[in-house]
Amino acid sequence: MTEPPAPYVTAVTPPSPSADGSTRAPALPPAFQPGRLHEVAVPGTPVAVLEPVIGAERYARLVSTAARFRDGLGQRTIWNVSSTAVGGGVAEMLQVLVGYIGGVDIAVRWTVIGGDPDFFAITKRLHNQIHGQASGGPLSSADARHYGQVLDANADELLRQVRPGDIVLLHDPQTAGLAAPLAGAGARVVWRCHIGVGWENDATRAAWDFLRPYLAAVHGFVFTRRQYVPSWIPAEQAWIIPPSIDPLSAKNQQLDAATVQAILATIGVLDSQPPRAPGRFTRRDETVGEVTRAGLVTGEVWPGPADPVVVQVSRWDRLKDMSGVMRGFAEHVVPGGAGYLMLVGPMMSEVADDPEGALVLAECLAQWRSLPAAARARVLLVTLPLDDVEENAAMVNAIQRHAQVVVQKSLAEGFGLTVAEGMWKGRPVVGSAVGGIVDQVVDGTGILLRDPADLAAFGSAVRQLLDSPDDARLMGEAGKEYIRENYVGDRHLERWAQLIDAIMGLGQPRSRRGPNGTSRGSSRRLQRQSIRPRAGAPGGRPLITCPLLSPRSGSLWPRSAGRSRAGARTPACTAPPRPRRRGRCHQCALPGRPPLDQARRVR
Ligand code: UDP
Repeated sequence: MTEPPAPYVTAVTPPSPSADGSTRAPALPPAFQPGRLHEVAVPGTPVAVLEPVIGAERYARLVSTAARFRDGLGQRTIWNVSSTAVGGGVAEMLQVLVGYIGGVDIAVRWTVIGGDPDFFAITKRLHNQIHGQASGGPLSSADARHYGQVLDANADELLRQVRPGDIVLLHDPQTAGLAAPLAGAGARVVWRCHIGVGWENDATRAAWDFLRPYLAAVHGFVFTRRQYVPSWIPAEQAWIIPPSIDPLSAKNQQLDAATVQAILATIGVLDSQPPRAPGRFTRRDETVGEVTRAGLVTGEVWPGPADPVVVQVSRWDRLKDMSGVMRGFAEHVVPGGAGYLMLVGPMMSEVADDPEGALVLAECLAQWRSLPAAARARVLLVTLPLDDVEENAAMVNAIQRHAQVVVQKSLAEGFGLTVAEGMWKGRPVVGSAVGGIVDQVVDGTGILLRDPADLAAFGSAVRQLLDSPDDARLMGEAGKEYIRENYVGDRHLERWAQLIDAIMGLGQPRSRRGPNGTSRGSSRRLQRQSIRPRAGAPGGRPLITCPLLSPRSGSLWPRSAGRSRAGARTPACTAPPRPRRRGRCHQCALPGRPPLDQARRVR
């Protein structure tokens, strides 16, 4: 242990307690205006770079899938719509996916919606509720009005660019309200929910009650785990696609020991001399990047380069439980021996869609100040600049590589990309047995905590790995192979290709349909994949529901494909009459849900 290097830096001044003893959030900058979409430019990444990682066989399959998919897509564009371009797993995943899809010459775009702080406060509550947290109770009709208005403004802009037939992948609750206008304009809409829990309570029900009407028009739903699919979504419309990591990205690419040390010294988390040259990494466009910015680091004593370090990288979100990690480390790891803890997250002014983040960070800083001196000297709070996403990623990469143990002690978790990232770097993981962490930390790759709130168990798991470096190394090696096999981008791309294939098959002229209403191409593909089309309605008729049909009634509206539907309408549709269009509800003119016999579930 050494004395702190000068200058001593503190990220933000902890908020002063208000009269009633609570803390106040710092004011949020008005980062985006409602309805101001902005496009994220991601350079195409040639998939050939993956071959050395995934091997010749997987690579050949990826190339042939891409070629077939590109042909099928024709002139259509694939759109991704999310709520932030930086910070968090969705942004991380889209950087990778959009890069590789662009790299095989498929038209793909990524656009980020705008919203005001009230909008993001509403969507944060939805986020928490989907994870089962009450988060202020059900949203009001005023909240619904505001949510709808912000998304209508975004939809107006988006509809100037999206063409009929385009595929639109909407990400998370922030974008759900775009589904109906996009589907109404003829796009194929998929809603990808990155979060969830495998059970229901009042909070989850409240969130789904709010979102369900907005989602009535989507053609397919994607969840990370089967357990996350809410019971009201027909199994046939739900696809299971876990995320992936990109081994070549700035976040995960190999960095040698000298580069790691240089980056850590630049961030300011080590007691070491300033680096003679900045740490370098390879950017997505193959140019060389340099880490030149410092982080904002709160600490009292800085670890030396050889001191063991435990790391959790997360957004400043209560469900990531940075605070519990700090307490567990202080109470159950510090007394048992050496080791430092680094809690690492983004600088808060830069994550527009996370209004709670600044408050959670401020609470962590206050908690750090109140730690006993011995523990305070072993904990660093680190916030990393996001001005340059790839530089930020290289910083996270170096910190994860430097860690002796990576932890992710979330109270709830959609997938937990930080787990896969740590494992890819050969680090053993201590993770809560929640959500997607369970799928990643399999036997021999780390330690799962049955009860994330059990701080003694957390401390003992961390201590065990700090004290047994040989076991930790073996776990790290096993973890890396597990990630290579299951969570590298080619797996992810193939699952998306299957889904979009099926979604595109919808609404084709009858003459191009194969048996059971599937398109001929998709029917042949399904046969090759040995996935048998399910039967449709009794008598083989496809079923279609009006997208505006009350989700509560849940009833289906059967019709014969191709039959004259003069006068047909769905009972709950209240939209004003529109000119009739083939395949659409006669009242609201929105396209129907996919006939049940065409939707497939990925296994
Ligand atoms: N992340 C980052 N910089 C930070 C904090 C987080 O790049 O300061 C990244 C992290 O490396 C991971 C993602 O954000 O790729 C978080 O994804 P995860 O699935 O773990 O959680 P989410 O934020 O989506 O809930």
